[in-house]
Amino acid sequence: MLGKVTKRLLSISLVSVSIFAMVGCSNSQSSKSSDASNKPAATSSAKNTTAVLPSDKAPDLSKLKDAPSVEPAKVFDNLYFLGNQFVGAWMVNTSEGIILIDSMNNSDDAEKIIVPGIKKLGFDPAKIKYVLVTHGHCDHYGGAKYIQDNFGAKVLITSVDWSFMEKNLKDRQEAEAAGKDTSKLMPTPPLPTSHTEITDGQKLTLGDTTITIVSTPGHTPGCVSLIFPVTDNGAKHMTSIWGGTGLPKSLEDNKKYESSVDYFNKFTDESKVDSELSAHPFVDNALERIDTLRKRKSGDPNPFVLGEEGYKAYMAKMKEFVTNNITKLSK
Ligand SMILES: [Zn+2]
Repeated sequence: MLGKVTKRLLSISLVSVSIFAMVGCSNSQSSKSSDASNKPAATSSAKNTTAVLPSDKAPDLSKLKDAPSVEPAKVFDNLYFLGNQFVGAWMVNTSEGIILIDSMNNSDDAEKIIVPGIKKLGFDPAKIKYVLVTHGHCDHYGGAKYIQDNFGAKVLITSVDWSFMEKNLKDRQEAEAAGKDTSKLMPTPPLPTSHTEITDGQKLTLGDTTITIVSTPGHTPGCVSLIFPVTDNGAKHMTSIWGGTGLPKSLEDNKKYESSVDYFNKFTDESKVDSELSAHPFVDNALERIDTLRKRKSGDPNPFVLGEEGYKAYMAKMKEFVTNNITKLSK
């Protein structure tokens, strides 16, 4: 059954994705408070549609990029959100240490949001073994160098996106040397000192947890998406992270994106994925769902569990959106 919450989330996703093409990452480190966290919480039963964002009231990305931080949050028994209202990192706690999925915008975010968040949750950041970077945009790899330099974590990324990151950095340096305006270029925080390549179909195991890595180019040339098990009060679920959400500009990249959705769906079908996560909480209404979790009572459902059908419907909407964009770009 496709619940009302799921339908509402899908609506939000569509609106958000449409305005989320290729946004940059923040250079600002604001920790301002905001009333955004006081929005009505999502519930599994309500006829509450107040969180649906109408298309003419899309989130102001300039504010999101200067986003207020969010209290670190437990989402599953072994999974935690660390971040702000624009972007976050997901902490997977395993029996042998921590896997951090993505790393926010820059070293400052890592130092002021991720590391204190991990400590606040009662964990030791020195136990971060891997920073698994979904793709080479600054708002996903920016904090990786800090985590690596301070805790010795291995940074994992595809060779394709490592080259993409190097090229973006070089382009900026050349533009600056030539005295060109670089204000519209995506920020290029320092790259990690070293990295380990990841490839399609690879399984990353740490202790009791294995993450399946799937190549899903489109948003960036070397983007990956992830599948891994989580538990909710001991109940087993499979979750996934679609690595790069915003639609690319070119027709060719949109076609790659569309193929990647189909390709990833094969893996998630096999794994019986019933939950989804995003590094960008406004894409899938994650902060309202986290708010619901904070108030959760015994027996209440976990709003991050969509069910297999709900998850498929979510991805079907992602597919529909890119397909529509391809039609538009083909005219
Ligand atoms: Zn991106």
